[in-house]
Amino acid sequence: MDITKIIDPLNDSQRLAVTAPSQAMLVLAGAGSGKTRVLVHRIAWQIQVEGVSAHSILAVTFTNKAAKEMRGRIEDLLGIPAHTLWIGTFHGLAHRLLRRHAKQVKLPETFQVMDSGDQLRVIKRLLTTLNLDDAKWPPRQLQWYINAQKDEGIRARYMAATDDMYQRQMLAIYRAYEAFCDRSGLVDFAELLLRAHELFRENPDVLEFYRQRFRQVHVDEFQDTNTIQYAWLRLLTDGKDNLFVVGDDDQSIYGWRGAKIENIYSFQRHYPNHQIIKLEQNYRSTGNILKAANQVISMNDGRMGKELWTDSGDGDLISLYAAFNEQDEAYFVVERIRAWVNEGGARSDAAILYRSNAQSRQFEEKLMATGTPYRVYGGLRFFERAEIKNALAYLRLMSNRNDDASFERVINTPTRGIGAKTLEDIRKIAREQSISLWAAAIVLINQGDLPGRASNALTGFLNLIKRLTEQSEDMELYEKVKLVVEKSGLVELYKKEKMEKGEEKIENLEELVNAARLFDFTQDQESEENLSELDMFLAHAALEAGEMQGDDIDDCVQLMTLHSAKGLEFKLVFLVGMEEGLFPSQQSVDDAGRLEEERRLCYVGMTRAMLQLHLTYAESRRLYGRESYPRPSRFLREIPGQYIQEVRMRATVSHPITAVKTKTSSLQVTSTYKLGQRVGHSKFGEGVVLQMEGEGAHERVQINFKQAGVKWLMLAYAQLKTL
Ligand code: ATP
Ligand code: MG
Repeated sequence: MDITKIIDPLNDSQRLAVTAPSQAMLVLAGAGSGKTRVLVHRIAWQIQVEGVSAHSILAVTFTNKAAKEMRGRIEDLLGIPAHTLWIGTFHGLAHRLLRRHAKQVKLPETFQVMDSGDQLRVIKRLLTTLNLDDAKWPPRQLQWYINAQKDEGIRARYMAATDDMYQRQMLAIYRAYEAFCDRSGLVDFAELLLRAHELFRENPDVLEFYRQRFRQVHVDEFQDTNTIQYAWLRLLTDGKDNLFVVGDDDQSIYGWRGAKIENIYSFQRHYPNHQIIKLEQNYRSTGNILKAANQVISMNDGRMGKELWTDSGDGDLISLYAAFNEQDEAYFVVERIRAWVNEGGARSDAAILYRSNAQSRQFEEKLMATGTPYRVYGGLRFFERAEIKNALAYLRLMSNRNDDASFERVINTPTRGIGAKTLEDIRKIAREQSISLWAAAIVLINQGDLPGRASNALTGFLNLIKRLTEQSEDMELYEKVKLVVEKSGLVELYKKEKMEKGEEKIENLEELVNAARLFDFTQDQESEENLSELDMFLAHAALEAGEMQGDDIDDCVQLMTLHSAKGLEFKLVFLVGMEEGLFPSQQSVDDAGRLEEERRLCYVGMTRAMLQLHLTYAESRRLYGRESYPRPSRFLREIPGQYIQEVRMRATVSHPITAVKTKTSSLQVTSTYKLGQRVGHSKFGEGVVLQMEGEGAHERVQINFKQAGVKWLMLAYAQLKTL
């Protein structure tokens, strides 16, 4: 047996963790110190050396991408495929369990998974049903409330009604929501976890089966587990020291979604025989990047305290670019990427990381304009696009007639003359008789009260779904999808839309057929015995949104939110939109706890970079249709100047951000304004020109405003008056 492949690429502490006898273990270490590597090597070690069967191992990671990578690396180390190894996200694994044990958790076998968009729609509809004003009961807030209860394992039926009117109403909505989901066979993301927990808790034989089966349980990114996930892990491993977790308290970034850093402490209490191993050497980033990141995170209180070092040398300074607006920022980033590629760099080694999904559009446009292939993870995810969801809704309805959310979605898309009144009648019957919308529609038709046209339209819709189901019965999955795309009328609908938009939607629908063709059923060879290919595909669409677009093998620039960059690494990283109000986000600015979470997010972002880190901010930004003039992010000020180099488009100045503001430099000066000239601006008032640079459309001036301080402005937009 050759174990050198497993052992050699590890340092002493890593080796200790990998080869330790089975026991509860916590590897607590900073970014890039090899935690994930340890996890992978430990699994390989257990299979290869300890003789544990791959069948007996469960590994939980945070994203599907990470799970895929992990499986690949384990198989590489072992030199053989490991199909029977269960590896996935909490949600993915929970879904798998629920499919296997639908009966025990009282779900219909054809239950469908709703993503958060579906969930929101369901909530909005419930509000109408309950006659509640959604201005007073904002759907997003309700969604948050419901998910927060579920993340804590609290069902509506366990909640006692209080005297507080507001609380009582929230509870009533939560109850109605649960009843609706049960009736329709719909399961939201939080529900997946909650039911998986109930499956174990309420079915001792099932729990015992999995306790016997999973002899070793491994968890990556443990700091971001929430209450219900941890409770599930505890049930599964209870009484045994077979839980191996790795994590970093400084990278806990899902507190807003219920993650509990405290689980790291609870673990130490619940598994008294645990061992803790710390790793301190960072293998990912250059010295400058690492030291800067260490400095930023050191501003947080209450850390468990770890300091990382590297022996890889200082490397380049971190570059800082002050863009005059969001377009200039995108222009800068795309130019840098082009330079990187021209020098032989791979596009896929470059990542643009942003705080908010809405920021991606600018970059996408510039990348598109320059013909640079890119891939967006998360965000406007493929499976979340309206046209894709419409096509999927047809498919879901074909699979499960009780899926009310899908029924609502496509009953009149494309329009087929079913009016609001008819729909309201259907809802009313469904409500009164506690039946699905589908069943209610049949009742309504049979009552014979509908005007002829409406009745025909409704019958037409029901027949369409029935016909699609029958015709596609013996078809391959992709043929089913194709049939729906062609026969649902969606293509005609989008053909009528404004040229480009409609075309893009049709292309996306074609891509959906393609995705179905490429869909890999073998991923889950071992389970899902009873599940149709269609249902597997639909679950995949809900759970793994975003994983289908672009091609993995294409050399694409990577775009994603900071949250989805967790655990990943790239040679070249752009951390964009480093502005107060955006990053840290507006909501976190006045809340110390949330601000610390934003800072951890900044730490996560910075530590993704291996060789080069570029930070950018814009002095004016148009986002969500509003123009703002934000101040640079406080996180920029927390990086000591010695690690930073401020960049201008046409030259480079080595000054930390704090010092450069009022310095004039010898950059190229164009003619429009003179240094020292007094100017007026409609918003900032009176100021003095400090410096100028660029030309034509890119000409900008730096002005020291009496009230607003020093700002760079784009001449083309600034509309300055000379005074
Ligand atoms: P994060 O906190 O970001 O998830 P991590 O602690 O999981 O990071 P890994 O992703 O496992 O860190 O490792 C970071 C990088 O360092 C990877 O490229 C990995 O291959 C490399 N690495 C880890 N350990 C070693 C080692 N002993 N020798 C050489 N390279 C290593
Ligand atoms: Mg990791």
